[in-house]
Amino acid sequence: MQRREFLGALAASSLAWGLPGCAGIDGGAGKAGATVMTVNGSIPAADMGMTLAHEHLFADLRPYAEQMTSPLAVDRDEVVEVVLPYLREIQRQGCRTLVDCTATTLGRDPVLIRRLSQASGLQMLTVTGAYVAAGGRFVPPYVQSETADQLAQRWIAEWRDGIGDTGIRPGLIKLGIEGDLPSDTERKVLRAAADAQLETGLVIASHTGPWADVAPGRNGRCAFAQLDLLQGAGVDPSAWIWVHAQNEAQGSQHVEAARRGAWVSFDGFRPGQEAAYLAMIGRMRDEGLLDRVLVSQDAGWYNAAQPRGGEFKPYLPLFTALIPALREGGFDEAQIGKIFVDNPSHAFAVRKIRS
Ligand SMILES: [Zn+2]
Repeated sequence: MQRREFLGALAASSLAWGLPGCAGIDGGAGKAGATVMTVNGSIPAADMGMTLAHEHLFADLRPYAEQMTSPLAVDRDEVVEVVLPYLREIQRQGCRTLVDCTATTLGRDPVLIRRLSQASGLQMLTVTGAYVAAGGRFVPPYVQSETADQLAQRWIAEWRDGIGDTGIRPGLIKLGIEGDLPSDTERKVLRAAADAQLETGLVIASHTGPWADVAPGRNGRCAFAQLDLLQGAGVDPSAWIWVHAQNEAQGSQHVEAARRGAWVSFDGFRPGQEAAYLAMIGRMRDEGLLDRVLVSQDAGWYNAAQPRGGEFKPYLPLFTALIPALREGGFDEAQIGKIFVDNPSHAFAVRKIRS
């Protein structure tokens, strides 16, 4: 490591992220003994450190039916070779944990994630759940045929026994919901997620809304429909993450969701979007809601269907573009630490609110 890089890493990790941990913002990691489930097992939530709360390592984005009829021979050695340098880059910036939000039928590969975690030294999380957005192209037959209870039992079994025969346990329940009045399948999946959340204590992270650009207010309606249904089933709003909240143009909806206690995740940052992210995050800070905000990039992924994974989107810009822009925009180190260290340690802490 070059001296300049080392000093950069020191500034990012020891100084900026070495804040006195969790300030007891809410009932999660502030409590002694709160834990987070990584692909290498349970860790203290307070040990998450600087965390990217929504990224991807590997994905197969072909429709589920095609994945089944034409499975790809994945060369995991090659994936590790391609992805590892991108992980090293962010480690040098002080990153300690990466949440892989790749949904169950979009190429989730727990063994590969564990290999990348062990090769890099970064802590990583994987998911259980079901993704029924994107016009249903990733919906497997069992999600159509099983009841909410059966789906919940399927996900609870992954939590209890591990995913397949890997012994790797999920650290969150990942959904994909797009209806601004949820469809019957979406409602069933949300009911299943509620049951699984209450049983396991895992947070629910919902991709919210259609993939294409949509009218202001549209994704907010989808978010609140989910929140209403989950709360009605007994789930605390703090156990739900509004994924891709940046796609909702009405900032008032972010504020309302956060006031209800939900996590609002601005997770698609790309270089050039500094001003837009500063405005969204700044509004939450000004409303006193910074402790409900997650920020990440939805970046990465080795695309299984392309040679050597296609064009990989690096994880580095959050450190080299967004965080400097936040500092220039008046965010102090405590606020930055809250967004990237404290908040993830609360959001992903396994919490059984109803026991
Ligand atoms: Zn994503």
